[in-house]
Amino acid sequence: MSNYWNKRIECMERTEMRALQTERLKRVVDRVYHNCQPYRERMQAAGITPADIQSIDDIRKLPFTSKKDLRDYYPWGLLSVPLSQIVKIHASSGTTGKPIVVGYTRNDVADWAEAGARCLTAYGLDKDDVIQVSYGYGLFTGGLGAHDAAMNIGATTIPTSAGNTEKQLLLMHDLGTTALACTPSYALYLAESLEKSGIPRNEIKVKVGIFGAEPWTEEMRKEIEYRLGIKAYDIYGLTEISGPGVGFECECQNGTHLSEDLFYPEIINPETGEVLPDGQEGELVFTTLNKEGMPLIRFRTRDITSISHERCACGRTLAKMSRILARTDDMLIIRGVNVFPSQVEAVLCTLKEVEPHFFITVDRVNNTDTFDIDVEVKEEYYSDMMSEMEKLRKKIAHAIQSVVGIQPNIRPVAPNTIERSQGKAKRALDKRKFK
Ligand code: ADP
Ligand code: ZN
Repeated sequence: MSNYWNKRIECMERTEMRALQTERLKRVVDRVYHNCQPYRERMQAAGITPADIQSIDDIRKLPFTSKKDLRDYYPWGLLSVPLSQIVKIHASSGTTGKPIVVGYTRNDVADWAEAGARCLTAYGLDKDDVIQVSYGYGLFTGGLGAHDAAMNIGATTIPTSAGNTEKQLLLMHDLGTTALACTPSYALYLAESLEKSGIPRNEIKVKVGIFGAEPWTEEMRKEIEYRLGIKAYDIYGLTEISGPGVGFECECQNGTHLSEDLFYPEIINPETGEVLPDGQEGELVFTTLNKEGMPLIRFRTRDITSISHERCACGRTLAKMSRILARTDDMLIIRGVNVFPSQVEAVLCTLKEVEPHFFITVDRVNNTDTFDIDVEVKEEYYSDMMSEMEKLRKKIAHAIQSVVGIQPNIRPVAPNTIERSQGKAKRALDKRKFK
């Protein structure tokens, strides 16, 4: 049976949820219209006023907001309150140029910690747990976001931040950590380091992983669960909307619940902006229904997923999205074919000879796209014999081709040569962008 942090909201009947969303949408639209000039100008250009928003469905009348808007109005052009009411800021690296800066009021921070507490509770955690937060602390939302959520449920919170892996393991062992929060790629690195450390696994109490901030596949989940001997849950978030905790998996692990009383989700066709029905894949869009500092209306995340509003077996009625495996920013178009690093990850997790550590390099030579993947071979399979490595190269290339549709050039590399990630893993370099 599931545990809830806020049962009233998490299991709210649809009609009641829609009424709450309507009330909050009206309020937030009113707020941005009167307090934030860029929103007012856009709404005026679209010929709408707050009076046109009478139901949550009227959200479709409102213009979208994009990452570009956050850059164009950098740093404070999209604030809806005076800076004196902002108690904290975070920033996202974005893909290019200027960072995206977000300001939170005291209530925004409290809502974020509420959303985070719902996640941790769904993972079965409570005040008796010891939560080690190995997401980076700082401008990145991961560390402080998970920290506030852990404190909110009253757990013993260890703010190790990312890095210093030996010390992470020492504290994990000595302080009896029961839940680990970090990126899945760092979890894999910690698992590897634990295996080498000589610390007996039965002296480690970790049972739950709180993993997110980057795409990770079911195959990677199995790999980490097996190697760390834990249950690994997805947590989703993004700086612009708040940070980790916008979405979370329940024990059913067949989708990521969204705290839709705070963050209203829509799926759109990224080409036309048309809202798509449940089950159809498209770009995820969020409206912050309760935010004061920097409310965002119909913010386009560039994350690709689909949504379902069916009641979940866990009892929650909160909408669920499918795992985000594709972020338009990560998509590589190679010889006309769309390739996502997560597809490569999924394949490598199924091959016994290699570690899921890889790096993709794409370039253009003589007008043809090249697609190279460095893949780390396991100690016991790594050989000096050319013929052995050639066989392995072909096997990996075929396996990847059967999933992505084009054949990569595999470059097997020695164990422990690919740089390990302590935060969000960087898995590809597209040299064509620099030409
Ligand atoms: P940046 O854009 O610099 O990466 P953020 O830290 O705000 O900044 O990252 C948010 C993004 O990270 C999301 O939009 C999504 O692409 C990715 N992300 C976060 N959590 C997950 C998750 N659980 N699964 C897949 N992708 C995730
Ligand atoms: Zn559920």
